[in-house]
Amino acid sequence: MSIQEKIQSLRKELNEHNYKYYVLDNPIITDYEFDIKLKELEKLEEENPQFFDPNSPTQRVGGEITKNFETITHKNRMYSLDNSYSKEDLLDWEKRIQKILGTSEIEYTCELKYDGASINLTYENGSFVRAVTRGDGVQGDEVTTNIRTIKSIPLALQNDFVSDFEMRGEIILPLEGFDQMNQERVANGEEPYRNPRNTASGSLKLQDSGEVAKRPLDCLLYQVVTDERKYKTHYESLKAAQQAGFKVPNTITLAKSIEEVLDFVKAWDTKRHDLPYETDGVVIKVNSLIQQDELGYTSKSPRWAIAYKFKAEQVSTVLNEITYQVGRTGAITPVANLEPVHLAGTIVKRASLHNADQIEKLDVRIGDTVFVEKGGEIIPKIMGVDLTKRSNDSIPTKYATHCPECNTELIRTEGDAKHYCPNEFGCAPQITGKIQHFIGRKAMDIDGLGAETVELLHKEGLIKNYADLYELQVEQIIPLERMAEKSAQNMIEGIQKSKEIPFEKVLFALGIRFVGETVAKKLAKHFKSIDALSEADFETLISVDEIGDKIAESVLNFFTDEKNMELVRRLKSYGVNLETSVEDQANQSDKLESKIFVVSGVFHQMSRNELKKAIEDNGGKVSSSISKKTNFIVAGDNMGPSKLAKAEALSIPIISEEDFLNMIN
Ligand code: AMP
Ligand code: ZN
Repeated sequence: MSIQEKIQSLRKELNEHNYKYYVLDNPIITDYEFDIKLKELEKLEEENPQFFDPNSPTQRVGGEITKNFETITHKNRMYSLDNSYSKEDLLDWEKRIQKILGTSEIEYTCELKYDGASINLTYENGSFVRAVTRGDGVQGDEVTTNIRTIKSIPLALQNDFVSDFEMRGEIILPLEGFDQMNQERVANGEEPYRNPRNTASGSLKLQDSGEVAKRPLDCLLYQVVTDERKYKTHYESLKAAQQAGFKVPNTITLAKSIEEVLDFVKAWDTKRHDLPYETDGVVIKVNSLIQQDELGYTSKSPRWAIAYKFKAEQVSTVLNEITYQVGRTGAITPVANLEPVHLAGTIVKRASLHNADQIEKLDVRIGDTVFVEKGGEIIPKIMGVDLTKRSNDSIPTKYATHCPECNTELIRTEGDAKHYCPNEFGCAPQITGKIQHFIGRKAMDIDGLGAETVELLHKEGLIKNYADLYELQVEQIIPLERMAEKSAQNMIEGIQKSKEIPFEKVLFALGIRFVGETVAKKLAKHFKSIDALSEADFETLISVDEIGDKIAESVLNFFTDEKNMELVRRLKSYGVNLETSVEDQANQSDKLESKIFVVSGVFHQMSRNELKKAIEDNGGKVSSSISKKTNFIVAGDNMGPSKLAKAEALSIPIISEEDFLNMIN
């Protein structure tokens, strides 16, 4: 077998195992065996870069960064769906389409309406080439690199199917994975995500595809779009798509009449709560593709399909108490503590009340019977008060005036919806919250230290701020509850190792309000050191790209506080990186400012990621696909033929790796 054949056979084999694992949920080899084969393929590909293929199973881990998602016009418009809410609505729809078709012989398919973000996948010659979000239906954003990391999406087909087609589906975040992500976030001192749908849709637009790869996203497919007339019905085409490797849920069912459609709706209105993902209704479609063609589209939606929306489930229960939670930044969130009640398959004990205005608007009072609803949000909401059940002696709710944790008087600044506890350095949840943020994966990434341990260390009086971490001794930790010598050592090693974390992450770790990951990167690149940043005035700060008044003020406030300056001085004395390394600095310039690059092919002197980083470090932008706006294409070996054709068509200069290096040096 030639090396090329070996590579191809491994790819085919791994694709098959992926399909069995992620689509059929029926793996036939162990994860370990899979990893061995994947490593073998990785090695062969590395040694033989001429056989690079973006659709190789090795490419699923991501790593490519997309700064600007290119807008792409859909070949076939992505319509929305008409909604219906009752049997009458459905019967009206049936009448309308019977009239147009001139027959009452209509068969329907019933599918669940998966609650996520719609996606359009393009396949050519049986291979995945592109993924575009729905956008406004006419144009969407190209998110191919991110979508490639979703393992249930086939990169090559398993069985005979049409060769050129689009596959439409919904990117979803299953509930279990969503909960896990939130547990991690809370442990990192971050706000939990609100619901799976928004999180799924936000994931598609993450710049780092490596981050997308880490999220447990899935894709459920519901429509094949093709000019080939191979299948006669929608049902048949979906079943064939399933054979070809797509995850088409088996819940899809044929119905001979609206009565049968209603049976499906009724059954799933309750059963849906046992599904591993969220659904918000049923989609009913005319099964015959010929009839679909005859019915066509209105300006907004197909006439051959209609959505039936499940009613949001609502229950009433008693509000026992309102408590207040204090976040890392001191923000106060009121929480309704409810008499436990069954709702949409779970027992609900707490609901969010958002802020003081919300409480006032609803006029909720302790002892009230309240209506609780579970919409798209994971945390249920209080919708209103059952006034008929209010007792005469009920008292209007007075919002907390003092912090429940440290008893400091709360403040609320103009324009802020939330109250804050200003006792930043003396309020337990703020102190531990800041340290938990500091050690988080995207910040100092400290191994061997978790959120609970931070609380324990604080409770024991061993740490009062993040700088204290660097003075911890193994002997101090061993006596603590559930601590062994080994784990204590790991913790200290983890802390020491964090001194290698680059400045931009340290800056993020400091927990300056409004300085998230991206802003931290911007500031680090511009100012290069904490000293320069702390000396910058308002004008200098807002002159930095994308830094506005709010962020500038927050940065100024942070460094004006002597306590923060003291922390910074201490971090510096322990050897934490508070400036961009000389090496990084030497590699940075504005030489490529406002130039947009597309990188294609395999390179020799640097990896694709290094090349991209070099572009960004020198002020340029990297885009994943070629458009009129592209300034240069850096081409390595084996540049994709479609990219080459497009570049030539738009007369965009194609430069080599050497040309590029000359440009920046
Ligand atoms: P709407 O956004 O309410 O107009 O509903 C249309 C959207 O429903 C489509 O863009 C799809 O993303 C989504 N959808 C979810 N499940 C299905 C399904 N089984 N068939 C068609 N569309 C679906
Ligand atoms: Zn407080």
